[in-house]
Amino acid sequence: MEQQVTPILTINGSDGTGGAGIQADIKTISALGGRVLSAITSITAQNTLGIQEFFDLPATTVEGQIEAIVNDMQPAVVKVGMIRRADTVAQIARLLKQHKPKHIIYDPVIVSSQGEMLMAQEVVDEVRHSLLPLCSLVLMKRADAELLTHTAINTAADLNRAVKSVLAEGCKAVLLQGSHTPPQNVADVFAMSNDGEPTFLPSLFGEGEGNTRHGLSGSMSAAIATFVNGGNTLFEAVVNARNYIAQLQPQHTGIIGRSGELFNEF
Ligand code: PLP
Repeated sequence: MEQQVTPILTINGSDGTGGAGIQADIKTISALGGRVLSAITSITAQNTLGIQEFFDLPATTVEGQIEAIVNDMQPAVVKVGMIRRADTVAQIARLLKQHKPKHIIYDPVIVSSQGEMLMAQEVVDEVRHSLLPLCSLVLMKRADAELLTHTAINTAADLNRAVKSVLAEGCKAVLLQGSHTPPQNVADVFAMSNDGEPTFLPSLFGEGEGNTRHGLSGSMSAAIATFVNGGNTLFEAVVNARNYIAQLQPQHTGIIGRSGELFNEF
């Protein structure tokens, strides 16, 4: 991809392993030729064993970082990741409404790939009400979609209902990853609010595996933001980001920590 002049802003938590969070966004956007700016919402202490501690920055500290950047460098595309406080969600939504980037790509990581709830339900409800309506694309795993819509997803009909319910909040498109619901057992689902018909994309991984890769949705959303910034439509960006992630796998699964298992990052 050609060098892009317009920077991409990522608003996300810090993951010292580099598997997810701000660090992975910087790696991904830079690798794809983008220029990246960042604002940190939360600092985590984590390793291959899991997350030991969160320090969620005050909303005013997050606001200060974003204000400083958007008042100076005007990013056209913003990627948003982990936000764990309701007041920070509301503040970020207020700032983005005011500054109106062309696209907001949001990966809420409500539930981590390890199954840990990273966001309290009250924060999820704030997200639904204030942030979703501003987004071009929201990425969700099935567990995220269940918590966002307050419904269980067991069938393809449930899945369609959940996608429609998220789109009804006002975001332009949804990418539901590794949905594993019959009859599309290992498909990702992409749907736009203006045509309503979901597109089923084949899973990049074996059944179940896609949901357990640390950093998958974070790197995917950062790649989508970069492709959209480069002029792709949302669907083209999703297709290109999936291809990018798929070709990365072999090189990026090599870290072994004290857990003794391969640390499956991107
Ligand atoms: N984002 C941040 C900032 C994190 O620290 C973590 C930690 O697990 C995640 C996201 C979750 O990523 P994943 O669900 O890909 O494991």
